Amino acid sequence: MGFRFDNTYARDLDGFYVPWAGDKAPAPAMVLLNHDIADELGLDTAYLNSPEGRAALTGGAAPDNAAPLAQAYAGHQFGGFSPQLGDGRALLLGEVVDKAGHRRDIYLKGSGRTPFSRGGDGKAVLGPVLREYLMGEAMHALGIPTTRALAALTTGEEINREGPKPGAVLARVASSHLRVGTFQFFAARGEADKLRQLADYAIARHDPELAGNYLGFLEAVIVRQAKLIAQWMHVGFIHGVMNTDNMTISGETIDYGPCAFMDGYGEDVVFSSIDRNGRYAYGNQPVIAQWNLARLAETLLGLIADDENEAIRLATNAVNGFMPKFREHWLTGMRAKLGLTGAQQGDDALIAGILEVMQAQRVDYTQFFRALTRQAAGDSAPLHALFSDGASLTTWLARWEIRVGPSGADAAAMAARNPAYIPRNHLVEAALNAAAKHGDMAPFHKLLSALTSPYAPRDGFEAYELAAPQDFGPYQTFCGT
Ligand code: AMP
Ligand code: MG
Repeated sequence: MGFRFDNTYARDLDGFYVPWAGDKAPAPAMVLLNHDIADELGLDTAYLNSPEGRAALTGGAAPDNAAPLAQAYAGHQFGGFSPQLGDGRALLLGEVVDKAGHRRDIYLKGSGRTPFSRGGDGKAVLGPVLREYLMGEAMHALGIPTTRALAALTTGEEINREGPKPGAVLARVASSHLRVGTFQFFAARGEADKLRQLADYAIARHDPELAGNYLGFLEAVIVRQAKLIAQWMHVGFIHGVMNTDNMTISGETIDYGPCAFMDGYGEDVVFSSIDRNGRYAYGNQPVIAQWNLARLAETLLGLIADDENEAIRLATNAVNGFMPKFREHWLTGMRAKLGLTGAQQGDDALIAGILEVMQAQRVDYTQFFRALTRQAAGDSAPLHALFSDGASLTTWLARWEIRVGPSGADAAAMAARNPAYIPRNHLVEAALNAAAKHGDMAPFHKLLSALTSPYAPRDGFEAYELAAPQDFGPYQTFCGT
């Protein structure tokens, strides 16, 4: 049984895309098939694995009822506006309503050149495709909204990326691919009718109860993003390229390129080789999200109120609401991580206090919370081992002990909020290298298995909790093209 597509984007948004076909892959081979997602979508894995299924998933032969298309969008990239980006190496194959009744996009990344490709070759290679697969699954298991992969396939082509690399396609599933940049595309062209049509479509898809309420829609996107960014911060996730074209309306994390999880704590931590000024550093993510949402708000002004000043006032209020909402989600999550029940006046300062100490000593962020959980369970050795200067930890611990009270913190509750396993940079690199350079998928599968149950430490996975070995050195990520 193949896909049962129902393609609203193609049907309702004529003029927002170019109908397009992918390149025919010479020898499509399945590398990873996500059985959970296939099941959610009601897709038969035997079909997906068949020659027909593999041709569909690499873009070369769309199934009968698909409506493959390349979407138009614009975007601020590192603060500078590009009026036309669009799907330069991707296609929306179609939409499927899943078993739970949710509409999901099936989207192919790496399927060949499109009218939006500019200088690019439209292709993707195996390493970055596997990286996106892994990161999406890790984020999902951590409870963070994200696009996910249905499948990763090699195409049988060799693609030149500083030497020949195996060509690959990621079949991605998302609750939509509407981006802040999609709105910017039509706003920049002054196409007010199209903008209203797009907003109506987005509202119908994500906030149907808000039909006709464009300010309410803006606020809903702001709330989703505030919660999302707080969740990123809780696990030390650094997106790496928070351009407005990489920010969704749905509130899902999208476009895993140079992203990475922080090891040693620091507001200033950056891994992306192209982010030389640290615009998208860990600690900047909330401010950048708000900046991006201000760009979305600008596109909606004409819909929010007839009077421009009134529209600006309302939109500004909405955008200003981002930070308090972010802080609220962030604080709630941080309290849970630290085992603080209820809400008390000094919580903010208590949290800031330990982060300051951690930043000064570059303490491993993930390990800290696991060790504090052990501390709550009566074992103080792991926590003390993480700090080179123990005095500031001891001072802080005294404050923490007073705050959690005589009965102590609930270690089991803390363990459920603090992952043992995150996609540590050295593990991700080793898994991708083995797969892309040596065709050995075993390290990838073992890492994926750890990351899909991040809160449940298991025998045989001890090394997955450890920081990178000294000789791993400073880490840099690259845009996954
Ligand atoms: P990204 O950095 O992946 O968010 O991509 C930014 C823009 O560049 C999007 O319009 C992509 O479709 C486009 N792009 C990225 N890589 C390629 C490529 N290899 N060929 C064509 N377009 C690309
Ligand atoms: Mg992108």
